[in-house]
Amino acid sequence: MSTVETVRGPVDPADLGRTYMHEHIFVLSADVQQNYPDEWGDEAARVDDAVAKLSALAASGVRTIVDPTVIGLGRYIPRIQQVAERVPDLHIVVATGCYTYYDVPFFFHYRTPEVRTLLGKEEAEAMVPLFVGDITEGIAHTGVRAGMLKCAIDEPGLTPGVERVMRAVARAHLATGTPITVHTHPGSHQGLTVQRVMGEEGVDPSAVVLGHSGDTTDADHLSALAEAGFWLGMDRFGINLATTFEARADIVVELCRRGYAGRMVLAHDAACYLDWIDPDAVAFLPQWHYLHIEADVLPYLRDHGVTEEQITTMLVDNPRRILSGA
Ligand SMILES: [Zn+2]
Repeated sequence: MSTVETVRGPVDPADLGRTYMHEHIFVLSADVQQNYPDEWGDEAARVDDAVAKLSALAASGVRTIVDPTVIGLGRYIPRIQQVAERVPDLHIVVATGCYTYYDVPFFFHYRTPEVRTLLGKEEAEAMVPLFVGDITEGIAHTGVRAGMLKCAIDEPGLTPGVERVMRAVARAHLATGTPITVHTHPGSHQGLTVQRVMGEEGVDPSAVVLGHSGDTTDADHLSALAEAGFWLGMDRFGINLATTFEARADIVVELCRRGYAGRMVLAHDAACYLDWIDPDAVAFLPQWHYLHIEADVLPYLRDHGVTEEQITTMLVDNPRRILSGA
């Protein structure tokens, strides 16, 4: 791949700059919002709010974010385009895929490979041509092409639905070369499940980011995945409920010490607005915003022996390598 697809069009990988590999803009429960829109409120105000927050992010030196908001998270590209046009200093890479910890969405439930084979469809798995089309043709007639693939596996493990999505994402990757990010649950070692399934599909680990790896402090487990060639997404800085700021930062320090700065990427998994959490509850996560890494995490890493070169590797070089398929 010679260019990286963003909302405003293809970008030279050399121009990506500092990149946060996992930041949402809006996470919405689409059919709930269609029926109970009062909390979301004024559309223009929500877009203005996102423009303000992302402008502040760009002003902090970040040039690119990957927004892994896919089916199941309320992806709506026309709204992202409105935001992107007003934040010209920030590249936004959008994603395709499907987010579930359990079943496939009902849209796909009866569109089984068996039914599609009976119907004579060329591709048995219904998700594959949709994901590939998002990458090669663009999303929903917007002309915006996805630059990342996304699936999820959480504590319930490899349910039939999760496996179907993961294999579909793998096949869309093999057809296009587009890199993959996987929401994982490292506490239950789901990275090993990803390793097995992606391996069976023939996906090279160097195309896969194991998201939310920073949720654990198990340095040996993460080292083994890094040794296997996966990228580790230390991408939930600020979500300090089951863990702490220090624990999240210390595991990055430890993996840098072990020589794995070349396998990690950083982000917050933040959003301008997500309807999963009562707005009043967001106040309990005061560090969960786009500026936390720059304000708090990087100073801590520097104080604990992480070099400027390692920081540049994690924030600039690794994302460029992942997104360009290099
Ligand atoms: Zn996320």
